[in-house]
Amino acid sequence: MTSVYISLGSNMGDRLSNLREAAGMVASLERTCLIAESSIYETEPWGLKEQDSFLNMCIKIETELMPKELLRKLQEIELNLGRKRLIKWGPRTIDLDILIYDDLNTDDEELILPHPRLTVRAFVLMPLLDVSGDIVINGRRLSEWLGDISDQGIKVFK
Ligand code: AMP
Repeated sequence: MTSVYISLGSNMGDRLSNLREAAGMVASLERTCLIAESSIYETEPWGLKEQDSFLNMCIKIETELMPKELLRKLQEIELNLGRKRLIKWGPRTIDLDILIYDDLNTDDEELILPHPRLTVRAFVLMPLLDVSGDIVINGRRLSEWLGDISDQGIKVFK
């Protein structure tokens, strides 16, 4: 089994139930089990400003799915939950990203690991810290990466 951290975000419809439903769908993937869930955070929108605020969380799973197999399963879940990709960085029902897959480093068109936005977004770092502890990513602890950025308008929602 491999430890994997996944980030979940929603800013359309019933955001809380979108997160819960998506986390449940990930947890019930084949050869996968849910290990931990972070608190839920509310974040002002980034990218396009004229949209509702986001709810974000992070989960830790253990899985036997290979990285790209897992990515495809997550994309299926996004589609099943009705994500409409109308505008880049615009509103979305659910966004699922693989943050960390064991100690794998990849950089191809389809999958970049660790996720490139991990170290610069409070809405990724704070929930990740909840479930991973203060691990080292790209040579620095999560708390050090967090120290570099402002809180970016993030607060605990639940
Ligand atoms: P987004 O709009 O942020 O959900 O980006 C989706 C695109 O990012 C897809 O085409 C994925 O193939 C690509 N991608 C690259 N690295 C990752 C990753 N670590 N997790 C999820 N999607 C990724």
